Amino acid sequence: MSQTFCMGNQAIAYGALRSGVDVVCGYPGTPSSEILQTVANEVKCRQLKNTYVEWSVNEKAALEIAAGASYGGARALVTMKQVGLNVASDALMSLPYLGIKGGLVLVVADDPGPISSQTEQDTRQFAAFAKVPVFDPSTPEEAYLMIQEAFELSERHTTPVIVRPTTRICHGSAAINISLASSESPENKTLGFDRSRDWVIFPKRTYLGHLEIWQRLSQIAKEFDISQFNAIKDTHQSAPSHLGIVAGGISYAYLNDALLGLKNVGAIRLLKIGTPHPFPEDLALQFMEGLSEVLILEELEPVIERELLMLVGKHKLKAKIQGKLTKHATLAGENSIAEITKQVRKFCDLDFFDRGFDKPVAIKGNLEAHAIPELPMRPPVLCAGCPHRASFYAVKRALKGRKAVFSGDIGCYTLGNAAPLNMVDTCLCMGAGFTIPQGLDRVEPDVLHFGFVGDSTFFASGLTGVANAVYNQSNVVLCVLDNSTTAMTGSQPHPGTGMRIGLDSSARDAENALRIPDILKALGVKNVAVVDPFDEDSAVDAVVKAADDPKVSAIVFKSPCITVVKPKSQPHIDANICTNCKLCVREIGCPALIEVNGKIAIDDALCYGCNLCVARCPFDAIRATNQLSGITVTDTKPSSLNSQGSTLEGGTDD
Ligand code: SF4
Ligand code: SF4
Repeated sequence: MSQTFCMGNQAIAYGALRSGVDVVCGYPGTPSSEILQTVANEVKCRQLKNTYVEWSVNEKAALEIAAGASYGGARALVTMKQVGLNVASDALMSLPYLGIKGGLVLVVADDPGPISSQTEQDTRQFAAFAKVPVFDPSTPEEAYLMIQEAFELSERHTTPVIVRPTTRICHGSAAINISLASSESPENKTLGFDRSRDWVIFPKRTYLGHLEIWQRLSQIAKEFDISQFNAIKDTHQSAPSHLGIVAGGISYAYLNDALLGLKNVGAIRLLKIGTPHPFPEDLALQFMEGLSEVLILEELEPVIERELLMLVGKHKLKAKIQGKLTKHATLAGENSIAEITKQVRKFCDLDFFDRGFDKPVAIKGNLEAHAIPELPMRPPVLCAGCPHRASFYAVKRALKGRKAVFSGDIGCYTLGNAAPLNMVDTCLCMGAGFTIPQGLDRVEPDVLHFGFVGDSTFFASGLTGVANAVYNQSNVVLCVLDNSTTAMTGSQPHPGTGMRIGLDSSARDAENALRIPDILKALGVKNVAVVDPFDEDSAVDAVVKAADDPKVSAIVFKSPCITVVKPKSQPHIDANICTNCKLCVREIGCPALIEVNGKIAIDDALCYGCNLCVARCPFDAIRATNQLSGITVTDTKPSSLNSQGSTLEGGTDD
């Protein structure tokens, strides 16, 4: 054991390795992505030959692969974000009916806020729906311990188990007592598929499985009554409490912090719920004894609140339950120490030490107090030099004056929605960028319908949309924004990159990289163009041709993300020519085009030298700079067609 300062996601990975995990699969998604990456790093550094790690093409594939490994007796971990569980839900819903062999644990990271998601769904609720146990860590250290207990529980009861950290657990860091050594395989671990067990989900098996699930959950609930992750605590040991507060996940950590800031805290009984499903009912009953009012603190759905309301009804208790359903707690978004302090203070009618939670904290400087200035707003924006900006701009230019609807998808390119591009009219979920336009086409056949998905999304959820468009003869243009990586979640590889997790870039298998244009053709799309979006004329031509094709057609805009290439020479603005008309800014909205002393300038720290701005200036004030053999050559034309080193065929070329 050693104290290690690490992120919650790293702690989860260390915990899984400590459990002797054999197979780890997942699909990137904030806030979960670092878990699998950490396992891969450890496997590589510590040369753990028996642990296999992969980025799967989507969450459903990941869970099914993990299930297969578990059927074979291996311990398997699957990682994803909360919306990823929607994709994996088909497999998850059936798994408890059949049971598993080796421990099967899903880490599903929830995103209250949301900070980086399309929904605020609550995986605790999903776990109850799927009838699988769920752990809800309140600290990174607890996440480390819970993942280990999750594997044990999974094997003890032959069920998949979910651990659901939230963003602040995943991304928060703490000094944690961690053993980096992998534990030996459990003594009873026998690898190999057991044919004598029934693994086929026929209706009779489902019926029996359903009865088994009920029995299993009631046994697990009893274990949870005495679990180390649930606890009753009294703020005053001697005085009786009539007020109680229940909290789960990060809200429990916030509650403890809030109580430190409150004056004259009397007798309050606290209940920590670390295992919300199946609910530890006997423990909760014990907690409720003698209480007249109970406040529930939890993020997302009122999961604990509903359980307590049921308990009150079932046992005819007198206690009043206050929470989201009674509007005593926030209905959406994250909790915080400040928010919980306010709620607890109101609930208990307490004074509090002014810790500056409801106004900017004053700092003493030069013997005077200064309020901390408000942080500036930082709306999300496509990076300077992002190839998606060039792709959207080419489509915009090509379709000027024509009626069109642009359907987007989940990824950096959703940001094409912002002004001045305004190129994403819809965004629903992974893959919908290719299917929503097909629905729109049935309603408005005279309008052009473009769909945009990224390269990783194409493999994750885009293929069925392509097949559907071809099969049903939709008149849509399917655009793949291929930047050779899964950019938004941290540049993970995907099947089109020729890379796999854990391999060095020198091991790139370009030969076997799946080629998006070939796949589009194989799925029946006849007109497939591949263009570099920075080759502006060719890109615009390709868009016009695709728009005029009455059948389904496709364009692959191929140019690597700035995170996987080095910056090019930056252009500069000739202040003597620039009229400060700001047309360059209004056309493309690159964040590297800034205003300095009232004049438009290029921010050297941000500019990636994509040269998209060069041709935007009607006065030729923006000069591309090419550094050749130490000699600076200036040119008012955009730089070479393959300005970012991309190739015009499939595979990758960073
Ligand atoms: S478009 Fe040209 S003239 Fe206008 S602000 Fe930009 S650089 Fe200056
Ligand atoms: S070259 Fe122009 S458009 Fe490209 S990153 Fe620099 S400022 Fe932005």
